[in-house]
Amino acid sequence: MKGNSLSATPPPPPIHEIPAPNMHVDCPYCQVRLSVHPSQAGSAAGCPKCGGRFQLPIPTALPLGRSQLSAYSSTSEIQRFASKKITAGICGILLGGFGVHKFILGFGKAGAIMLTVWLAGIVLSILILPLFASAAMWIIGLIEGIIYLTKSDEDFYQAYAVEKKEWF
Ligand SMILES: [Zn+2]
Repeated sequence: MKGNSLSATPPPPPIHEIPAPNMHVDCPYCQVRLSVHPSQAGSAAGCPKCGGRFQLPIPTALPLGRSQLSAYSSTSEIQRFASKKITAGICGILLGGFGVHKFILGFGKAGAIMLTVWLAGIVLSILILPLFASAAMWIIGLIEGIIYLTKSDEDFYQAYAVEKKEWF
């Protein structure tokens, strides 16, 4: 049957988005592999070989539940930032007082505060006081390192790249 309602579907409007690779869809009638642009996902398509009409699938790989997050950050950007998670976490645990884990995440000011307080604690402890301030910085670093390592890549990105959470 030709000329059904599917053929009246208007062409998709121009979409300003990052160019995406074409999707590959198998024609359900003749199994020929078709290459379609992702902007056509979900719309009706006609097989150029057998003429069969069918609806293109919507890619399931898209993180639809996190539309707010994915609106201004791609998955690769999350992965790129999340690659710092292990390093920052380990530095927090092992080198907490130096504030290295904060410098890794781009929090120069917070890292400098930690380093300063830690150094001040060392200097003061030589004079009179115990290592209290330094110990406190080490404990903060240790806790922060553990927090980094227990977060998912998405949560890690959200907290430290989007919200710029400097402490904990
Ligand atoms: Zn076909």
